[in-house]
Amino acid sequence: MRVEIGQKAQMRVERKQRQHEMTRQERREEQYQALEEVFDRATLMTLYQLLSRGVLRRVYGVVRAGKESRVYHAEGPKGDDLAVKIFLTTSSEFRRGMLPYIQGDTRFKAVRRDSKGIVYAWAQKEFKNLEKAALAGVRVPKPVIVEKNILVMEFIGEDGSPAVTLKEETPRNPVTMYKSILTDVQRLYRKGGLVHGDLSEYNIMNVNGRPVFIDMSQSVLLDHPRADEFLERDLGNVNRYFFKLGVNVRELDSLFRWVTGHEREHP
Ligand code: ADP
Ligand code: MN
Repeated sequence: MRVEIGQKAQMRVERKQRQHEMTRQERREEQYQALEEVFDRATLMTLYQLLSRGVLRRVYGVVRAGKESRVYHAEGPKGDDLAVKIFLTTSSEFRRGMLPYIQGDTRFKAVRRDSKGIVYAWAQKEFKNLEKAALAGVRVPKPVIVEKNILVMEFIGEDGSPAVTLKEETPRNPVTMYKSILTDVQRLYRKGGLVHGDLSEYNIMNVNGRPVFIDMSQSVLLDHPRADEFLERDLGNVNRYFFKLGVNVRELDSLFRWVTGHEREHP
């Protein structure tokens, strides 16, 4: 139940506020009580700072809880719906998986190699990628702010329910959706200078028959050594999904050429 979870989050915040007026001893006791299984103290502090600065007015319940991140529905200063993606700083497997994407990225040369540094860079990366994509005219959640491992962005959906992904619901008009997705992949590549890198039915939402790309933390710049490989994989995923729906999909090599303007170099 959304409201109940929202109240719980609210109580947590109020508890944090009370902590300012408490003695150290009392504070410690409260902290132990408040210690959540999912978030460490640093993350809770960052969240509290976003609330006290007014970036967020309220945090409601969790929208999706994954192994690597949790997405919350929140309210912005003007009563607007926001999505808050909190990257877990605790999963070491996840951090290893991130490295290939960060290492080839010229924007992140000086990233701290410790666990938190990598996760913070990951959140930053998603913010910048969403920004680039939005500027290129690709439909994505507009990023609002990134603070350590917390990314705040536009909420895609209504009344606190996220829009469906293609995985959750097949589009009513697959051909139109297929074409729109390809156009956005090309736009993202040519105008945004990015390859999504994890494009599939899981990371494409359907808003009134139009695609919205999400989950761009692993997206890479075109000069990334594996950019072409990732693009080919993205296009392959999209093709596979729409082929199953009976769409007459375009052949991969020509699609790759159409998106990039060059041949795929097969190693
Ligand atoms: P993960 O790395 O866990 O796959 P995603 O960015 O794909 O993270 O988000 C997971 C889920 O959270 C999505 O499938 C979607 O249901 C929800 N979600 C993510 N971003 C938003 C958003 N901006 N607005 C609404 N829901 C979102
Ligand atoms: Mn995802």
